[in-house]
Amino acid sequence: MVCVRLSVAGRRVFAMGTTTGKAEQADGPPRSGRSASLSPSRASDFMRCPLLYRFRVIDKLPEKPSAAATRGTVVHAVLERLFDAPAAERTAPRARAMVPGEWERLLADRPELAELFREEEAGGDGGTGGGVDPERLAGWLAEAERLVERWFSLEDPSRLEPAERELFVETELESGLTLRGIIDRVDVAPTGEIRIVDYKTGKAPAPQYSAEPLFQMKFYALVLWRLRGMVPRRLQLVYLGSGDVLTYDPDEGDLRAVERKLLALWEAIRTATETGAFLPRQTRLCGWCDHQAHCPEFGGTPPPYPLPIIPVQSPEAASG
Ligand code: SF4
Repeated sequence: MVCVRLSVAGRRVFAMGTTTGKAEQADGPPRSGRSASLSPSRASDFMRCPLLYRFRVIDKLPEKPSAAATRGTVVHAVLERLFDAPAAERTAPRARAMVPGEWERLLADRPELAELFREEEAGGDGGTGGGVDPERLAGWLAEAERLVERWFSLEDPSRLEPAERELFVETELESGLTLRGIIDRVDVAPTGEIRIVDYKTGKAPAPQYSAEPLFQMKFYALVLWRLRGMVPRRLQLVYLGSGDVLTYDPDEGDLRAVERKLLALWEAIRTATETGAFLPRQTRLCGWCDHQAHCPEFGGTPPPYPLPIIPVQSPEAASG
């Protein structure tokens, strides 16, 4: 799931190297005078479907907010802010009670999210004239509260003192590629060992689909290794939807392999950006894609490519 998050204002920023230091700067190919940058979400987009990457990063086509992603934002906000309370007060009832307030806070920031809960009008043309359906909203909030409550069966926040929450990290590799992302939680043991924790509001994937979320965690581990000089001891995915915890203990070899993979991925993105050749890749995830109307796999036509195209030369032409 691609998580929608609250405003980045107030987040801790931890960065080194030649960086912009701004969480809100978009990922993407190099623009004049700026370094290229990549986040786990955009890397996953390209691996999943290059055309999806183009629509999101280059065309910047709008996407409808989804009830599931918005719920994820609210749940993440609760899990983050609960740590503002003293340890003994980090209880499940308190966390559940925070859900409506975090929803109101998000809605104040993004009033368009009210559309998620509009009553269907008679004739149902999908218009926006109806009021908010209180039952739909209540059911959605109740599910968010269930997810928050399930966290307490997986972790005990009264026994945790995170070193960082919602930490924006950014580092530049020797190649000039900037890696950036936002880590839900960083725990540091008295020994100095680091644990990276990410909350997922969906269900844990079957083992054959666990590579993608683990890749995201190794991406964060690589960035923290570069920033702090220590390989994180543990990567921990907390799946609130199914009540599962997935852990992985990386080593330097893992993270070097991720770095090689990211550089190869970036080379593929750079080539596609120069040639405009972003091919669609149809998978079961197309069902959740907002861009089927522009996708050739579904009979659509992409908008005109907005960047200059560098023609591909044959080896013969290139050599003279
Ligand atoms: S519908 Fe599928 S193939 Fe088309 S852009 Fe979206 S993810 Fe890619």
